[in-house]
Amino acid sequence: MAEYVGAIDQGTTSTRAMVFDHQGRVVAQHQLEHRQILPRAGWVEHDPAEIWQRTLAACREAFDGVELAALGITNQRETTVVWDRRTGRPLHNAIVWQDTRTDRIAEALDRDGRGGLIRRKSGLPPATYFAGGKLQWLLENVDGVRRAATDGDALFGTVDSWVLWNLTGGPAGGVHVTDVTNASRTMLMDLETLDWDDELLAAFGVPRAMLPAIRSSAEPAGYGLTSVPLGATRGGDGRIPLTAALGDQQAATVGQVCFAVGEAKNTYGTGNFLLLNTGTEPVRSTHGLLTTVAYRFGDEPAVYALEGSIAVTGSAVQWLRDQLHIIRTAAESETLALRVPDNGGVYFVPAFSGLFAPYWRSDARGAIVGLSRFDTDAHLARATLEAICYQSRDVVEAMRRDSGVPLDVLKADGGVTANDLCMQLQADILGVPVSRPVVAETTALGAAYAAGLAVGYWRDTDELRANWNESHRWKPTWSPRQRDEGYRRWRMAVERTLDWIEIGAG
Ligand code: ADP
Repeated sequence: MAEYVGAIDQGTTSTRAMVFDHQGRVVAQHQLEHRQILPRAGWVEHDPAEIWQRTLAACREAFDGVELAALGITNQRETTVVWDRRTGRPLHNAIVWQDTRTDRIAEALDRDGRGGLIRRKSGLPPATYFAGGKLQWLLENVDGVRRAATDGDALFGTVDSWVLWNLTGGPAGGVHVTDVTNASRTMLMDLETLDWDDELLAAFGVPRAMLPAIRSSAEPAGYGLTSVPLGATRGGDGRIPLTAALGDQQAATVGQVCFAVGEAKNTYGTGNFLLLNTGTEPVRSTHGLLTTVAYRFGDEPAVYALEGSIAVTGSAVQWLRDQLHIIRTAAESETLALRVPDNGGVYFVPAFSGLFAPYWRSDARGAIVGLSRFDTDAHLARATLEAICYQSRDVVEAMRRDSGVPLDVLKADGGVTANDLCMQLQADILGVPVSRPVVAETTALGAAYAAGLAVGYWRDTDELRANWNESHRWKPTWSPRQRDEGYRRWRMAVERTLDWIEIGAG
């Protein structure tokens, strides 16, 4: 068996190729950014060809001379690509998960009664976030896409499919597949059958011919071999078996070894994504959460999760840096916020693209409330960090109501967890301890774990559990009264952001 396992983490802003050893430690990595294309307010696109080039370049750099037993891929979810199977060329830029151009499509689903069907079968509320509406938009608005799709020339995929198709040869026999976790974000898959559903396809007008085959997140037989050598393989030709694919948040759930019912993780990046393992039966949310597939290993039953997705958390810190210029680096949000003992009455709801879980209100827009003459940039920085935590509390409250399972400890990961004050505030605002693992790259690690499990590099999930080590734990310090009062004010602030814009106005 080769010494290492590789992972590709194709994220919203960059692509990382990483190499892990048997203890789950990072051995090598390379990261490359790609362009954010913003044609107009609310629209966010990526160039799929650029993503593929960056992915290949990152792999070649990170995997050079390294012997890999298997390769897993994890990716930004919901982002939608349509390409020509003969030329390998994208028919349009990818429409990114944050893009809100499909707000009219999403709203129409609820107005004409298709919303109930979609909720019941896909576990998702109608929203701009998911791939189905984005694909419908491409079919209806880009010349030639509908015809190419009906003729069988146009292929659809989320970014996992696009990268896997290219990695396995592209126009020269590339494999057109996706995994259950990515498929569970399209609004086109039935959560129970784990297959594309005719009624859902009809709701979005999507021809079945353009869809990838849905496979497990970890496949012992693999999806295929890389068509070109990306690293070394012992005695082989350098072509690595592709044995795992998972959406980024599901991969982080695996990387955080949340394999038991009731185990949860919260990833603090551009947005926040809290996933709670609910076992082999999908739990329907009545409090604004999503039901999604957490992972499926080989022929074992799929494991489901309840998910709270929050659109803007770390990106609110970027906004302080890039738009308001009150900090020069994201890390300065901490030093600035530490100049004041509390938020000075200021609450900031960063509903820049509406509110995701648990509200699902695309008519909301951001607000800073409670300002007085006394308040400073430091109070705003503090309110921004608190907003990250209060939005997570909203999701935790919904999860408790839906699942009946109280949270004992929150496992955290992602870029924002470098902010000690923010993590302390999270423990205070939730009233439960927050724990961060040693390996912060849980997303790539989860893809590597799934890929390695598929080929027997790791025997079972117990072996993975033994790799998990805590690096830090933050304990709650606020009194219950302080906690309740802060949360009450937060809810009042959220109320003030609702019903702000008209749907379709951007
Ligand atoms: P993603 O995978 O979504 O790109 P990362 O996990 O790399 O995100 O985290 C990046 C996000 O974390 C950025 O939005 C950035 O503003 C935020 N961030 C990074 N360091 C800090 C910090 N010290 N304090 C607050 N926010 C931070």
